[in-house]
Amino acid sequence: MRVLVTGAAGFIGSHTCERLVARGHDVVGLDRFDDFLYPAAPKRANADDLRAALPGDRFRLVEGDICDGELVARLVGDVDAVCHLAALAGVRPSLRDPRRYVRVNLEGTLSVFEACRAAGVRRVAFASSSSVYGKRAAGRAFREDDPCLEPASPYGATKRAGELLCSTYRDLYGLGVSALRFFTVYGPRQRPDMMVHKLLRAVVTGEPVPVYGDGTSARDYTFIDDIVAGTIAAVERVQPGAFEIYNLGGHETTTLADLVATVERVTGHPVPIDRQPMQPGDVPLTFADVTKAARDLDYAPTTDVATGIARYWEWFRGRPMP
Ligand code: NAD
Repeated sequence: MRVLVTGAAGFIGSHTCERLVARGHDVVGLDRFDDFLYPAAPKRANADDLRAALPGDRFRLVEGDICDGELVARLVGDVDAVCHLAALAGVRPSLRDPRRYVRVNLEGTLSVFEACRAAGVRRVAFASSSSVYGKRAAGRAFREDDPCLEPASPYGATKRAGELLCSTYRDLYGLGVSALRFFTVYGPRQRPDMMVHKLLRAVVTGEPVPVYGDGTSARDYTFIDDIVAGTIAAVERVQPGAFEIYNLGGHETTTLADLVATVERVTGHPVPIDRQPMQPGDVPLTFADVTKAARDLDYAPTTDVATGIARYWEWFRGRPMP
């Protein structure tokens, strides 16, 4: 296939482009090298990595905005499928600038779907998030058919609204969409605003890292290779006219205290910590039931947190600090 990957220079997008090309697809990437959530420099470095590693006739990267309807229409008109990953991610910054999140995550998604409608492209994978689940009580893993009516942040609300657009475009125009609820992804090229990156960085710099809450909050951490495998399966298998939601998680939870201990064990160094209260918008737990993704996508996360952090650390320690 020819696949358009939005957010191609980002953390998940750059790995997705590499894997798509490795599987024989041709890829057009779109990214605006946004610098709201974190600086553009790591994204430029990712783009340089991609251009160096991938043959020029199989991969090209266009600099532009998903909200630019004309540009998106032109790019979508030339592909068979879209992997729509571009967005403003991050929970806490979405409380500071919710309008920006609504504009990029909703209007941007709308422009991608409109372009698909106009061009007759019927195969889309859409990056949603575990943030749609909100502040659930602990007890069982989150399932795709849970109501998800109370996201705890503007970011989570934009992702849930994006899922609703998916189903509307399926009903009206026969779009096929798999919405992928990613659960805290980590690994090489991870965003610097995310906790595992911050912990590794603190090990290297010795500067204390703010850690929120008492350490009991827990996340379902998912290694990048597992996420990319699920994403590729979704875009390869999505059927026109079908809308499905899939959790892509690691299916195990790790408390923040255990995460810190794992980083210390893997790196052999203590992590300097600056303890802070829980932040508005944060949730106490994320935990993915991945039964549906296993059934439909053969999704089988294989990287436990200790192994994944060791692999990330190998990469991280050899890089200049962003
Ligand atoms: P990222 O910020 O590294 O990648 C997003 C990319 O989108 C960036 O390169 C950015 O420049 C680009 N972008 C932003 N606004 C754009 C615009 N208007 N036009 C074109 N490009 C634009 O983030 P990531 O962690 O790789 O996340 C990828 C997707 O997965 C996002 O949709 C995010 O919400 C979702 N997600 C990520 C996680 C995670 O743990 N990393 C968890 C849940 C969901």
